[in-house]
Amino acid sequence: MTTSFDQLATSILEGKPATEDDALAVLRAHDDELVHLVAAAGRLRREHFGNTVKVNYLVNLKSGLCAENCNYCSQALGSTADILKYKWLDTDEALQQAAAGLRGGATRVCMVSSGRGPTNKDVERVADMVGAIKAENPQVEICACLGLLKDGQAERLRDAGVDAYNHNINTAESHHDTIVQTHTYADRVDTVSKAKSAGLSPCSGLIAGLGETDEQLVEALFALREMGSESIPVNFLMPFDGTPYENTWELSPTRCLKILAMARFVCPDKEIRIAGGREMHLRSLQALALNVANSIFLGDYLTSEGQAAEADLEMIRDGGFVVLGADEDPRPVDVEGSRDPAKRRRGAGTTERPNA
Ligand code: SF4
Repeated sequence: MTTSFDQLATSILEGKPATEDDALAVLRAHDDELVHLVAAAGRLRREHFGNTVKVNYLVNLKSGLCAENCNYCSQALGSTADILKYKWLDTDEALQQAAAGLRGGATRVCMVSSGRGPTNKDVERVADMVGAIKAENPQVEICACLGLLKDGQAERLRDAGVDAYNHNINTAESHHDTIVQTHTYADRVDTVSKAKSAGLSPCSGLIAGLGETDEQLVEALFALREMGSESIPVNFLMPFDGTPYENTWELSPTRCLKILAMARFVCPDKEIRIAGGREMHLRSLQALALNVANSIFLGDYLTSEGQAAEADLEMIRDGGFVVLGADEDPRPVDVEGSRDPAKRRRGAGTTERPNA
């Protein structure tokens, strides 16, 4: 099998895409084969991304207070998870948070809001923020993640300077209705399609650990390949108390690594981002996972905290990787690794990021 994962990588490098059977074999690899699997996936990673790691930074524009019922999300209707809830940040606060991420080495700022989707007024509010951030940092990439889009909103965001739009499909179409009932898989695909049609780079990924089968994970990955997602956040479910998935523990560090490797084999030249649940589920394998994935979020997520930003940067350096686009050593966001003073006061938060 060692040889076959290596052969699979060679075959993909020669232009023959991975099949669903290949993807299942990666997912079901024995732990004994893990190092060989990572080495094979790493050939694809290095072919397309060298030794760079893209560092992304989340600005949580609006938290909680959502009327949708995504069962995995602590911001959802009916969730009793203990999270910060607030309405829109103002432009100055958004600018300050974005600046902190950029100082820490991020090249992409992800501007995220909870909720089903933005009103046109919300889009204008975000457009103003984007204009202000880009005026001070013209080189920064901005990804918006505001939920389901209506006609014309993607174009307005593009005109305001947004580069990418995130909306995850989250899981396979065949599993979607079990994880949320207030919107459909088709709704999600429609938003990715609107973003792509408007010229925004489509960012869409998944959450593993939601009770899906191996085949459904493969189904989701192939759907993302089919829809042309340029960056693929791979979230690992954080089963927080107060949500329907509390006490759901289906993942192990090696399982997470195999899921990332499968994503790399299926979408070899796409940005594979280790997203929510990285610290909780990959644990000590995070550094190894950088040989497969090429992108992470710096520091913490939406309403949960990741490991300190400096620890992330050290992990990147220790592995022989460099932060994409950094001309000098990035500085930590702050000594605690969190950009949100309220979160630092409160300690660890309680949810995963919903849409990215
Ligand atoms: S994932 Fe987004 S739409 Fe779903 S409940 Fe959470 S905030 Fe609302």
